[in-house]
Amino acid sequence: MTAPAAGEPGASGREAPRERWPHVVVVGGGFAGVAAVRALAKAQVRVTLVDRRVYNTFQPLLYQVATGGLNPGDVMYFLRSLRVRQRNLRVVHEQLVSIDTDAKTIQLLDDAVISYDYLVLANGVTTSYFGTPGAKEHAFAMYSRSQALAIRDALFVRLERAAVGADTDGLHLVVVGGGATGVEVAGALAELRDQGLRPAYPEIAGDAFRVTVVQRGDEVLKAFPASLRRYAKDQLTARDVELRLGAGVAAVLPDAVELTDGTRISSDLTIWAAGVAPHEEVSRWNLPLDEHGRVRTGPDMRVVGLDAVFAAGDIASTPFDLPQLAQPAIQGGRHAGRQILNLMAGRPTTPLRYLDKGTLAVIGRRSAVGDIAGKLRLRGLPAWWVWLFVHVAGLLGSRNRFTTIAGLLSRYSVGFHRSPVPIVGEVPSVRPSRTQPAQDPAPAAAAPDQSSSRSSQ
Ligand SMILES: Cc1cc2nc3c(=O)[nH]c(=O)nc-3n(C[C@H](O)[C@H](O)[C@H](O)COP(=O)(O)OP(=O)(O)OC[C@H]3O[C@@H](n4cnc5c(N)ncnc54)[C@H](O)[C@@H]3O)c2cc1C
Repeated sequence: MTAPAAGEPGASGREAPRERWPHVVVVGGGFAGVAAVRALAKAQVRVTLVDRRVYNTFQPLLYQVATGGLNPGDVMYFLRSLRVRQRNLRVVHEQLVSIDTDAKTIQLLDDAVISYDYLVLANGVTTSYFGTPGAKEHAFAMYSRSQALAIRDALFVRLERAAVGADTDGLHLVVVGGGATGVEVAGALAELRDQGLRPAYPEIAGDAFRVTVVQRGDEVLKAFPASLRRYAKDQLTARDVELRLGAGVAAVLPDAVELTDGTRISSDLTIWAAGVAPHEEVSRWNLPLDEHGRVRTGPDMRVVGLDAVFAAGDIASTPFDLPQLAQPAIQGGRHAGRQILNLMAGRPTTPLRYLDKGTLAVIGRRSAVGDIAGKLRLRGLPAWWVWLFVHVAGLLGSRNRFTTIAGLLSRYSVGFHRSPVPIVGEVPSVRPSRTQPAQDPAPAAAAPDQSSSRSSQ
């Protein structure tokens, strides 16, 4: 058995005064940051978690918020509540703006300067529009709470308008990107239309809306094996989701999307689920970056050339070429925390041994795909149950797990699924006789930060 060392409980008969404990600063309270914080829970360290939001966002279920299936609070967790179980933690609600690795300090947006002994960067990534003209202005991204709510509210504003307007042929929603996020949101929108909205909007002839997925590649879910890609395509088609494959988006207009093959498709609401990039400020931090602007780390998650700085999660570019998903973030963040304990104890760091637990994507009720580490392929109901279990288990807080199960079961379970009642927000009255148009949630108003999804277009 290894003797406890500095930083670990029981390392010496007497504890050093708290103020002399090494200071670990973790930037970002997402999957990676929270895992790093928790790895240090029992150590004699002072941990400061810095996040520009007061809550953690469970991004994998944001599309449920955007489609009226879950309340936003179900998938958010108040970061300061982590202190209930972890007393060596302090939470600072601010944004990191610069790092001085020589002085071992970071500067926050409110000009506060915090010194660290060890720094973990886990600030995630944001939406990339690939420079597509009009995309930032006219397409709705889905990376944050406010963005998910903006999609939901914009949808209902447009539906109410269609219900009182002369043009009652229904709306057209365009989802840009056929990766997991695009497929999940398109499938959920189609089910919302078929189960909840058709009877709710008798004023709109036919369907309340059509859904089209635009994907540059020839198939959806390109990260999955061929048989699962075909299954997903068939399931989307069975739900009347139109697929425009083989052409990317050249421009987004207020009422249309122009494709790279020259075609123009009308769009009442365009959802951007097509790519991610590091936050702009990362390029000013004087850190080694890869060709995509992510922070380069060694196998132990330490930033290349910096002994006391780690990066984990979506922002980290490791030698292992890990996907930008929750599991690499959790395992990378936890590993960074454990390496800090090693360094404090005078032990060498060890490389991350990533355990691939597989990838899941849900298409709708009883329909999902799962590629479990390349060994097991799941589809249909078994994959859906695994998806449900994994997503509920991954939420922070038992209250969130409880309300999410209730929300998902009332959307999908027997008895409920034929007439689910969507969760709605503020929808201004539509009064066509007056000059003042109904206020419409716009993409630019959705969030101070712009962000989006995992998949590439
Ligand atoms: C819509 C959507 C669906 C997804 N679905 C899945 C899925 O089904 N399965 C899956 O495995 N993965 C999924 N992902 C990907 C997964 O969510 C990410 O890989 C994961 O969140 C990355 O974790 P992270 O800790 O690196 O970053 P994040 O979870 O993004 O956390 C970063 C944190 O840093 C904070 N931050 C950012 N900049 C600063 C700053 N300058 N100062 C202070 N704080 C800052 C942010 O507020 C945020 O809290 C999805 C992503 C999206 C957007």
